[in-house]
Amino acid sequence: MTKPCIICVAITGSVPTKADNPAVPITVPEQVESTHEAFEAGAAIAHLHVRNDDQTPSSDPEKFARLKEGIEAHCPGMIVQFSTGGRSGAGQARGGMLPLKPDMASLTVGSNNFPTRVYENPPDLVDWLASEMLAYGVKPEIEAFDLSHIFQAAKMQADGRLAKEVYVQFVMGVKNAMPVDRAVFDFYVATLKRLSPKSEWCAAGIGAGQLILNEWCVAGGGHARTGLEDNVRLDRERLAPSNAALVERVVELCQKYDRPVATPAEARALLGLRAAA
Ligand SMILES: [Zn+2]
Repeated sequence: MTKPCIICVAITGSVPTKADNPAVPITVPEQVESTHEAFEAGAAIAHLHVRNDDQTPSSDPEKFARLKEGIEAHCPGMIVQFSTGGRSGAGQARGGMLPLKPDMASLTVGSNNFPTRVYENPPDLVDWLASEMLAYGVKPEIEAFDLSHIFQAAKMQADGRLAKEVYVQFVMGVKNAMPVDRAVFDFYVATLKRLSPKSEWCAAGIGAGQLILNEWCVAGGGHARTGLEDNVRLDRERLAPSNAALVERVVELCQKYDRPVATPAEARALLGLRAAA
């Protein structure tokens, strides 16, 4: 049997609002409901940001706690992944929710440009976030915006700053950072296999790049990320009606390439996570 494909749904993010797509879930109850629909459609990982009521990004640990609790109650076994991305807070506030012990958290190990600013990940902050994840037993998902981030993750794994095995997500299509480029994608995959042969990998594409990267990942033996955080449209004409609709698109790709969709238990085994409580 071919390897099951883990589908991650990034439900909210820090950027899209209801003006972009009314289906973007903002409040915690909306987020739980949207995640539940995506879970029923086949998603095994929920990648989570929280928002203030005015839709601006938040890093409030209390909101993260309520969201985790809601997802654990309504989506049995689903992997809870918190974002420690830089749009929702500064400095150590980005990791203030790690004591809640989510299954996973995102971790960016270097800096790059974003559409209108520098995405700052200075070495001391990266090391602090990594040490918090080690302390609380949180598995990082490395967000590789650049080739150097893959080398850095492998180095941090080798010297013990990260637990083995790392899970790496290649991020492509962010304006002013790495575009969606097939030759680079193939080189990313080959480089990760060379530096960390046992590591699982996935990719996130922004906007129209989402579906392109979904297909490259499913066809290439990786895992897939979708969701309204990265893309609010089905195509040029139509908004995505829900996070679940985007998950269904990946499920169709899995059928096309003969990849079973990973159940939460299979995803936990593939990623070396503890079984669900
Ligand atoms: Zn995110």
